[in-house]
Amino acid sequence: MSKKIMVTQPALPPLEEFIPYLEKIWDNKWLTNDGPFHRQFEKELAEYLGVKYISVFANGTLALITALQALRITGEVITTPFSFVATTHSLWWNNIKPVFVDIEDNYYNIDPKKIEAAITPQTTAIMPVHVYGNPCNVEEIQRIADTYGLRLIYDAAHAFAVKKDGQSVMNWGDLSILSFHATKVFNTIEGGAIVCQDEKTKQRIDLLKNFGFRNETTVIEPGINAKMNELQAAYGSLQLKHVDNYIAKRLKLAELYNDLLKNTEGITCMKVEEGVSHTYPYYPVRVNTVDYGMNRNDLYFKLQEYDIFGRRYFYPLISDFPTYKGLPSANVSNLPVAAQVSKEILCLPMYPNLEFEDVERICDFIKNKPWKI
Ligand SMILES: *Cc1c(COP(=O)(O)O)cnc(C)c1O
Repeated sequence: MSKKIMVTQPALPPLEEFIPYLEKIWDNKWLTNDGPFHRQFEKELAEYLGVKYISVFANGTLALITALQALRITGEVITTPFSFVATTHSLWWNNIKPVFVDIEDNYYNIDPKKIEAAITPQTTAIMPVHVYGNPCNVEEIQRIADTYGLRLIYDAAHAFAVKKDGQSVMNWGDLSILSFHATKVFNTIEGGAIVCQDEKTKQRIDLLKNFGFRNETTVIEPGINAKMNELQAAYGSLQLKHVDNYIAKRLKLAELYNDLLKNTEGITCMKVEEGVSHTYPYYPVRVNTVDYGMNRNDLYFKLQEYDIFGRRYFYPLISDFPTYKGLPSANVSNLPVAAQVSKEILCLPMYPNLEFEDVERICDFIKNKPWKI
């Protein structure tokens, strides 16, 4: 049989290039706590992304949880059910009630037209997600946040390096959260970050990720341990030298997928908005059961028989997990678009080391349905 093609595979820098970084760490014996690589990495990241202030974390989930603490968010937060479960879990860990709002049918992001109806006197913030790296309708969401005096925290875990009209999407909202998990466009094995807009907020975030220590003897509030260590920061610094190549390869693979799948009845590829420089963290397609003659689940399992392993991101919806299912906003009648998309979406393999021939093989199966012959 053919080799297994997984939905993703992490991109690692050449091992020999990492050795000098490790030698430095072994020499100075500074492993964590705001070490030289941590400082260097934050500086390089801010420059690369085109943002003012960034604080790196042990992972994206701790960054989300800390972001809510940094802005002292309480009560209810409006968010999307069409995301990775950590988005809503970060609210739960802060004792905040999630209020789910439906998504738009074009880019699968929270629908600004449905946000205002979900606002109550308890609402303090909105937490949207730039799903698959497609920027949310940032202008409209900002207008609503300003009108109602709400804070705005973007889960930008999919949006590393994404720009809209030449501007980093991370410059929208009060805070943006990144994930550098192994499966993301840019990885530090595990890792994450918070982007903020002023120095005072950065200081508060830095303190919160280190137990709340202001100095040797002063703990100003209960922080957590969410620091990134020196090995990951060094690895991240090296990864930054290669990430443009990773992204370039993703774009080429996406172009090939788009080209090969464009006339396949019942299969719709992801649209990219004009003015957006995309990074293709995922390659989602939508399967229309009637037009394709097969539903998404059947296609997903059929491809597995041919050693092609896609993923149903995001199925089930977060609102369907037991913890959240009982919430009034989790009712499917409140989330018809998200429910439909969740049934039809399939993310096909996408990673820098994927071969063009693999994409050809995958598209060939999807188009020609060889199991029918
Ligand atoms: C990956 C991801 C996270 C969690 O990040 P970790 O670094 O794995 O903790 C949060 N939100 C979204 C949308 C993600 O895709």
